[in-house]
Amino acid sequence: MEELKIFAPATVANLSCGFDVLGCCLDSVGDEMLIKKNDLKEVRITRITGQDLPMEADKNVASVAVKALLEQIKSDQGFDIEIDKKIKPGSGIGSSAASSAGAVFAVNKLLGEPFNNKDLISFAMQGELLASGNAHADNVAPALLGGFSLVRSYCPLEVLSLPVPEELRVVILHPLIEIKTKDSRSIIKQNVSLKSAINQWGNLGALVSALYTEDYDLLGRSLHDDIVEPVRSILIPYFKELDELVTKNGALGFGISGSGPSVFALCRGDENANKVKNVISEFYSDKEIDFELHLSSINKKGVKIL
Ligand code: ADP
Repeated sequence: MEELKIFAPATVANLSCGFDVLGCCLDSVGDEMLIKKNDLKEVRITRITGQDLPMEADKNVASVAVKALLEQIKSDQGFDIEIDKKIKPGSGIGSSAASSAGAVFAVNKLLGEPFNNKDLISFAMQGELLASGNAHADNVAPALLGGFSLVRSYCPLEVLSLPVPEELRVVILHPLIEIKTKDSRSIIKQNVSLKSAINQWGNLGALVSALYTEDYDLLGRSLHDDIVEPVRSILIPYFKELDELVTKNGALGFGISGSGPSVFALCRGDENANKVKNVISEFYSDKEIDFELHLSSINKKGVKIL
């Protein structure tokens, strides 16, 4: 195999109570990438369409992640990377993670699979380190593994896959304002009160249980974030009003997707998800902020070959 075309999915990280440790994979939003072997012993970004992103190999997360993989196996194989970027950078739905995860997935296949998908997470995290200054795994893990991923530990890295309730749908609102992960990280408080911590781990444990038991009501009750959301939501226009609106219209829960500005509503079934999508669209239409809306089921496979 000399080249591979893949779909690199968008992801929702944090999911309210799972800051930096929980994420899920979407299936209706994502980039396309074409990765080819070259004879130059060099990793190059040869084409980017859709968005204005760095072409320099040391500034693009895709090439940085691939180089981390090649270094590990001491390979001097060269690769050309083409990215058709559909996920806007700084959107909060894992734009950088899609490129990092997609690139290492394709290169691993082209090299005859020296690694499994779980092993690839740590290489893709090097891309996240470049993008946000923090090697977090809650976007790259679900992008590579599909479904829900829980990072039990960063050191050593241990990632668990959680079950996906069949009827779960995600509605994403992306207000077209840019919030850089670096900036929205800098406003988070570094210390947490014991009371907030107790609320948070109670909710996270219940959320994991709800995924196993397909208990949609419990899932909804667990989607709260006492620690990060109160600070970060200030950066998102009409966050509180949206929360009230989607809750009134039957969404299971609502929160910030990754570092924002995208927000997500988890819904049960297509009918409710469409209703929630429509009320958000109506609400935001007269707010003089351009926006995009997505409705997706949970992608159980992660990156896939096209
Ligand atoms: P997101 O949460 O949507 O991934 P980030 O703010 O974390 O957004 O990452 C976007 C940053 O990463 C931007 O500064 C962008 O220039 C940089 N970047 C480098 N390479 C890529 C790439 N291939 N895809 C997306 N962003 C990239």
